[in-house]
Amino acid sequence: MMAVTESQVLEALRQVADPDRGADIVSLKMVSGVAVKDGHVHFTLEVDPQRGAALEPLRQAAEKAVDRLAGVLSVTAVLTAHRPPPKAVSGQGGTGAPGAGKPAKAGVPGVAAIIAVASGKGGVGKSTTSANLALALAANGLTVGLLDADIYGPSMPRMMGLSGKPDSADGKRLDPLVNYGIKVMSMGFLVAEDTPMIWRGPMVMSALTQMLRDVNWGTLDVLVVDMPPGTGDAQLTMAQSVPLAGAVIVSTPQDIALLDARKGLNMFRRVDVPVLGIIENMSYFCCPNCGHRSDIFSHGGARAEAEKLGIDFLGEVPLDIAIRETSDAGTPITVTQPDGVHAQTYRAIAARVAEKIKAGGRTAPRFVIE
Ligand code: ADP
Repeated sequence: MMAVTESQVLEALRQVADPDRGADIVSLKMVSGVAVKDGHVHFTLEVDPQRGAALEPLRQAAEKAVDRLAGVLSVTAVLTAHRPPPKAVSGQGGTGAPGAGKPAKAGVPGVAAIIAVASGKGGVGKSTTSANLALALAANGLTVGLLDADIYGPSMPRMMGLSGKPDSADGKRLDPLVNYGIKVMSMGFLVAEDTPMIWRGPMVMSALTQMLRDVNWGTLDVLVVDMPPGTGDAQLTMAQSVPLAGAVIVSTPQDIALLDARKGLNMFRRVDVPVLGIIENMSYFCCPNCGHRSDIFSHGGARAEAEKLGIDFLGEVPLDIAIRETSDAGTPITVTQPDGVHAQTYRAIAARVAEKIKAGGRTAPRFVIE
């Protein structure tokens, strides 16, 4: 059997985030004393004495992360209280302080919160979910914008029933197009749909930056960003350069099984973006004729997996031809059938998302110990 190494252990622990500080436990320098002998792993998590017992779930998560490595026979992680950190410098130490001492990313003036909708791969319904989530947030009373960051295959013009080129009232910044009360910006407005686009890293970045900052978004409660599919470098750079309040992962049941969604989670954790939760799309099939529900893709996997990963489950959306038809026709179901069951589902998901943004986007509850 392959012997497990110390660096593999550290790599695994990099995937474990301290929910209260929004960064991974290795970057936060909490891990010490890693010892590996004949497949038995031992390490220490140094924690603030005041947080002590509340960090038991984190300790267990760290053990679990290492336990998954091939060649590991046993894992013991021990919490130790380290000496109090040096006096906090001004601007740090608050509950909202970003992890690992990285400079805060500049926000977009007027935009209260930016959330990313992401998926491990294409075709899982990420754009459909983005559009309906944006509309549901608006239906719940928020002012919402929608940024189509899927520059490789922009679908928001079609899904939101918009076409034409954006104007610029002030001659400096582009005005978003508006439909159903949502301000939308997409690369699809700027180039013809069938133009093949070859994007290199820096171009991707400047296109995104412009769509974010050189657009008259006005005052928004939430800007929903439809990310490009996948978890490669482009996505990572984007997640890093946009000041995100949090990310929502869209996944199908099979996609969860294949770990694509987990890659998405890890990507956001790596860049200290709180994951607000998972939405299971195409969760089960609803027969349009008889209303019978079939769990064709082993429904429920996302909920179980989310629980295992300590991520919130935001809701499940069935595979329903009405969702496809409305989204492909530019008449999303949330706005065109507001009394229907699907609109209700999206509004419930949106309410959960809004609540989490308000709570500061932390992925785990805070523990209070006496
Ligand atoms: P992605 O953005 O992940 O590539 P899309 O949102 O473009 O995926 O969805 C891919 C196709 O699946 C579209 O034709 C869309 O209408 C359809 N679709 C998405 N979600 C559902 C659903 N819950 N039920 C039925 N069709 C759906």
